[in-house]
Amino acid sequence: MKKIQHQINGKQFDQANATFQAVFNPATAQQIAEVALADTNVVNAAVSAALVAFDSWSQVSPANRAKRMFALHSIVSQKQNELAKAISLEHGKTHEDALGEIARALEVIEYATSIPSQLTGRYNSNVGPDIDTYSDRHALGVVAGITPFNFPAMVPLWMIPMALACGNTFILKPSERNPSAANMLAQFIGEAGFPDGVFNVVHGDKEAVNALLDHPDIDAISFVGSSSIAQSIYQRGTASGKRVQALGGAKNHMVIMPDADVRQAADALMGAAFGSAGERCMAISVAVPVGEGTANRLVDELKSRIESLKLGPSIDPSSQMGPVITQQAQDRICALIAEGETQGCKLVVDGRGASVKGYENGYWVGATLLDEVRTDMSVYQTEIFGPVLSVVRADSFEQARKLVDDHEYGNGAAIFTRDGETARSFAKQVKAGMVGVNVPIPVPVAFHSFGGWKRSLFGSHGIYGPEGIHFYTKLKTVTTRWPSGIKEGANFSFPTNSE
Ligand code: NAD
Repeated sequence: MKKIQHQINGKQFDQANATFQAVFNPATAQQIAEVALADTNVVNAAVSAALVAFDSWSQVSPANRAKRMFALHSIVSQKQNELAKAISLEHGKTHEDALGEIARALEVIEYATSIPSQLTGRYNSNVGPDIDTYSDRHALGVVAGITPFNFPAMVPLWMIPMALACGNTFILKPSERNPSAANMLAQFIGEAGFPDGVFNVVHGDKEAVNALLDHPDIDAISFVGSSSIAQSIYQRGTASGKRVQALGGAKNHMVIMPDADVRQAADALMGAAFGSAGERCMAISVAVPVGEGTANRLVDELKSRIESLKLGPSIDPSSQMGPVITQQAQDRICALIAEGETQGCKLVVDGRGASVKGYENGYWVGATLLDEVRTDMSVYQTEIFGPVLSVVRADSFEQARKLVDDHEYGNGAAIFTRDGETARSFAKQVKAGMVGVNVPIPVPVAFHSFGGWKRSLFGSHGIYGPEGIHFYTKLKTVTTRWPSGIKEGANFSFPTNSE
């Protein structure tokens, strides 16, 4: 059985008396590996290595840090097929989808290569007599990232390039459900010439996370995962004086106005709701058609498309949707569909009981379409994180927008319309961090930043892009005097810039 170990200080770290957790192929339900679960000693070893590495790494010039980032970009590009295969095997997503997440990750690495110009400071001369002032941003120290199962390469790479480019050293605690991608990243980062200890991987569960949160030598934590855990990470991390950004769950709505092209909206919804089996934080899980006519046409269009959607393992290139991540996820999603039915929604397409020939044991849930969903139903209130699309019918644009505003999550929201005034009003007013106009999954490009509102983000910084640079650096302002002649004598009044 393949054993997955921690990667500390540029090499494999074999944990003494380790506890291991099984890793499964979700398409077959077979165990394919086991991963070590770190205890406090392992976390301490990773922090020590990262702390030693910080001293010299933070002094490397931004231009030389960028050189390593260019090398990393080239290595990840060259090895993307290998990385995508490893992701698909443990996650279940299609090969094309895994390549898609790597493509988005490469964009963040690319942005991080621009760090010399991004870290430019501000300078003012003559702010007082013979006095000049400059401000610039400095690395924080050792920072840690705790990441979810659904993007084993992209989410870690939302953090790592930004943190390293800014001069920090990094400890990644990836999801224990699909840990292999993290070790491949460690290998690529080493090959790109980053010194030992700059990037480390600690595998594990709650115990490892708590050890990271409580460690006094870790300065910042980036977390991406479900909201209840995000909130507790934020509270525990900030209580021990750390800077924390904790991105949580979502329930993303897409409003379809009566003037929208319903066929185009249905096409967009298929990918947005069922791509990656709905296991995306920016997946659309609620469609809000405005008006009965729009709703009826949309449901018809979706139904026919769902019936021809091809479920299958990632090794079959014709698969459009893979299994969900675990047996527990499969059971939970099916239980929520049953609850929706009991609570009175209309089951237009039922994905429970779906199966794939030759892969009968896999964690399959077929694409599911629920109509006439109400806001008091658990299928509406809960983040299902599976291939389930709820249709909530609205009478007006205002009612549709209010649905988004009133939901506890505020990650993304989209509107499909041909009317500029409606689109603009939606984009300006809706309470969500990322908005799409005729774009179903508005994940910002790498030179903008990613982050939701409400219970989708705890902390004040979004991730990657300019917000990432702010998160991973702290400000220093230096005031200098190089006088031609200093007046003698102490001055006890408050310093001002008066002449
Ligand atoms: P999760 O919250 O179960 O796990 C995330 C990380 O937290 C993992 O590394 C896990 O080991 C760790 N963890 C789990 N339980 C813990 C506990 N009790 N204490 C401390 N750490 C713990 O999330 P998941 O199931 O891996 O991922 C799916 C979730 O992530 C969804 O809610 C999804 O919306 C969210 N997500 C959000 C974004 C975003 O950008 N907002 C992106 C991707 C995923």
